[in-house]
Amino acid sequence: MTHQTIDVGAMISGIRRWVETESPTSDMAAVNRMIDQVQSDVAGLPVKVERVRGTNGFGDSLIVRDAAAGNGAGILLLSHIDTVHPIGTLAGPLPFRRDGDRLYGPGLFDMKGGAYLALEAFRQVAQAGSAKLPVTYLFTPDEEVGSPTSRHLIESEARRARYVLVTEPARDGGKIVTSRKGVGRFEMKATGIPAHSGARHQDGRSAIKEMARQVLAIEEMTDYARGVTTTVGVIAGGTAPNVIPQHCHITVDLRVRDQAAGAEFEAKILGLEPFDPGVKLDVTGGMNRPPFEKSAAIDVLFRHAQAVARGIGFDLQHTEMTGGGSDGNFTAALGVPTLDGLGIDGDGAHTEWEHGLISSIEPRTLLMRGLLETLQ
Ligand SMILES: [Zn+2]
Repeated sequence: MTHQTIDVGAMISGIRRWVETESPTSDMAAVNRMIDQVQSDVAGLPVKVERVRGTNGFGDSLIVRDAAAGNGAGILLLSHIDTVHPIGTLAGPLPFRRDGDRLYGPGLFDMKGGAYLALEAFRQVAQAGSAKLPVTYLFTPDEEVGSPTSRHLIESEARRARYVLVTEPARDGGKIVTSRKGVGRFEMKATGIPAHSGARHQDGRSAIKEMARQVLAIEEMTDYARGVTTTVGVIAGGTAPNVIPQHCHITVDLRVRDQAAGAEFEAKILGLEPFDPGVKLDVTGGMNRPPFEKSAAIDVLFRHAQAVARGIGFDLQHTEMTGGGSDGNFTAALGVPTLDGLGIDGDGAHTEWEHGLISSIEPRTLLMRGLLETLQ
């Protein structure tokens, strides 16, 4: 075990360097600059580094392997280095700044702060050769849009792993995440018949009128008792005040607690029929992230993390099932024991008041290091 101390001041400088390398998911060059940063931060370590070219306009992924403990099934560490904040957020509403215990900046909480502290733990463990299992650290470019290009990489690495640790932000005062709802995404298009709203009203079939009824039908599927929510988050349609609209389009977000509900509501949404037979309805999409359900093996892993935290001097708790998905959904659904929310504590993910807590840097770096050194 390494007893190297945690230099919080140096870590704040490192987090600042990462946060000031803005990396919105859609900007491939920016995401790759962030991957360059990570790559230079692992240079000189006794590790194997593999950079995987991005596809479909997304940035690269980076795989860093500490094979001191061999090449068997080990620990997979997962971090995404993309953020939801467009370039210019740093120069505009959310500059890097320190205010008391808070560090503000785009992506600081979700999840550059957490990724940075996990990398610090990984660096110390790799230098000391103190892990009992091989450790693979995977950095991905596209989590904030559902990991379309990195999912296969995450799943193939997870299949070879005994445990997965995800550095998404902590919750509600430092709690970690042991279960997450599954997420479905759908697009619905209504195509009606356009007509002059004054001269030929009776000839038209309104796509907006049809969609208004569909929106209510979808929203009414929400069932809090079952943990099912449906949200029409985007709507667009029509061309002018005096035209019966031919087109209307919505996106639907579905959240479920378990696989059975996922299949049931996916079928319900995909099977929606038009109220007006004169309007054509096209529905596409489906479950994206499967539910991350707390298995017995996850509970064992959580209790182990609690014991590590107790040794450091703090009480580690987990949240109730959260509605937000992450890449942990993919790995947990494969049956690999997964702990998530191991990143920095703070608040305001995806907002202009996003911040991490300086006081959480040391204990959570030690927790990550303790996990890497004790899991076997
Ligand atoms: Zn995140």
